[in-house]
Amino acid sequence: MELENKVSLVTGASRGMGRAIALKLSSLGSRVAVNYVNIEEGNEADADEVVEAIAGQGGEALAVEADVRHGAAVKSMVERVIEKWGRIDILVNNAGITRDNLLLRMSEDAWDDVIETNLRSAYLCTRFALRPMIKQRWGRIISVASIAGVMGNAGQANYAASKAGVIAFTKSVAREVGSRNITANAVAPGFINTRMTEILSDEVKKTILSMISLSRFGETEDVAELVAFLASDRASYITGQVIPIDGGIAM
Ligand code: NAP
Repeated sequence: MELENKVSLVTGASRGMGRAIALKLSSLGSRVAVNYVNIEEGNEADADEVVEAIAGQGGEALAVEADVRHGAAVKSMVERVIEKWGRIDILVNNAGITRDNLLLRMSEDAWDDVIETNLRSAYLCTRFALRPMIKQRWGRIISVASIAGVMGNAGQANYAASKAGVIAFTKSVAREVGSRNITANAVAPGFINTRMTEILSDEVKKTILSMISLSRFGETEDVAELVAFLASDRASYITGQVIPIDGGIAM
């Protein structure tokens, strides 16, 4: 139980990658705050299901609602976790959306929504979770970027820019807080089976598959393993890095 006595906060954890990360951190002994946002009906039920799944494997979890685009909501989410467990050791900035379109057709709303959900959220959550980590002189900040943020992607100028922002943000935070024994790293997944990739057409999926050395899309558990490693003491000398997890993509 290498994360025993630790407290983790995972954003966007009611499904997809965030759910798998929450379950994995819990399986290693961490108590986990499962963040969700109730924009679409049913998300509360999804977060409750994750909390129950964690309890089912003998762990402890708390569902915390917050729209991570908004400072006041993030502040009260962090306060709620501190109130419940007295600390935050591991922050996983996972919440994210896509609103793809070719640049000439990309609306200002689509640009702003993606930047706010993917990048502003990382700034807000990290800023508010940092204080308890500094007090504890131990912390792990792990942000979910994307290969799009490293390589760019046609039709995803907003998404790629947000994820490139997450990468630069991570490297800067790593420099700021390293002396406090806090690491900040990003993971850069390729194509992972979640609702985000479910919507791709069969033709697009086939083209992508032909570029992946391992000839399959990744599973959420693949990413959760990497996040858990970065959260552990085994990764205590890794900071400011972006670790690709993409099955070997050659674009
Ligand atoms: P997903 O299944 O669509 O899940 C995204 C999660 O983020 C959902 O729980 C969603 O909650 C939450 N979220 C969205 N807006 C939010 C907000 N304003 N406040 C709080 N939570 C919010 O997607 P996923 O594939 O698991 O994506 C997880 C992360 O991995 C994202 O950052 C994504 O960019 C990144 N990523 C995914 C892939 C991939 O291939 N799937 C590849 C590279 C990177 P709702 O249920 O309310 O929507």
